[in-house]
Amino acid sequence: MHEARVFHGLGAVERARLRELSTLFLHRKTFTGSQGLDVSTGIAVAVAAQACLLILDLGLDYYDGWVEIIIYPGPFRVSKDVTDATGLVSHQEQVLGGESWLQGPVILSWDTAASDLAGLRPGQNVVVHEFAHKLDMLNGSANGMPPLHSSMIRQHWTQAFTDAFDQLHQRLAQHHHPGINVYAATSPAEFFAVSSEYFFTAPATLQHQFPAVYEQLVLFYRQDPARRSAAQ
Ligand SMILES: [Zn+2]
Repeated sequence: MHEARVFHGLGAVERARLRELSTLFLHRKTFTGSQGLDVSTGIAVAVAAQACLLILDLGLDYYDGWVEIIIYPGPFRVSKDVTDATGLVSHQEQVLGGESWLQGPVILSWDTAASDLAGLRPGQNVVVHEFAHKLDMLNGSANGMPPLHSSMIRQHWTQAFTDAFDQLHQRLAQHHHPGINVYAATSPAEFFAVSSEYFFTAPATLQHQFPAVYEQLVLFYRQDPARRSAAQ
């Protein structure tokens, strides 16, 4: 099989570690196919390897506290009640390519995951996106800040992400090109998940658009994908 772009530039040691983590991941997690999807070994391995890329230098413990991955054949419909800042509750119907629940399952559309694996949407990867939410939710509900390492400075993180989030909104207000997927403008949590997608699949773009965010993600993930793809 042609290797997916998301794994480009990994060295022999990193590849061996990724294989080892993926194997453990497959042991610890359960895969459930929905709507008649038969989760083949190929599908499970593809999801596991991408999920483990995020924690390559963090460890599998970062995915503790939940076990299930549910896979739909294609984008799936969810309906939920959303409460806004004024307390108004509205009912929303959405079609999603992925979803992560606090202490619950990760839900993915295989159709979306497969096209991302093939690199059909540059900078986008639904598996990376949903597992980034899982990391964010390690310290409570998703708010765009996963538990930082003790060597990191919380204020630097907040500054980098707040500035970038504001800048993205400014670009949109002025009808400028957003630089990254506009979905990042939805909330700080989505900004973190979307910037993680770019970090792993189009690192040079993120580094160019939001260098301070890129730098914080290097510190958090303990990886530098831009450097490894430049070394190709
Ligand atoms: Zn999201």
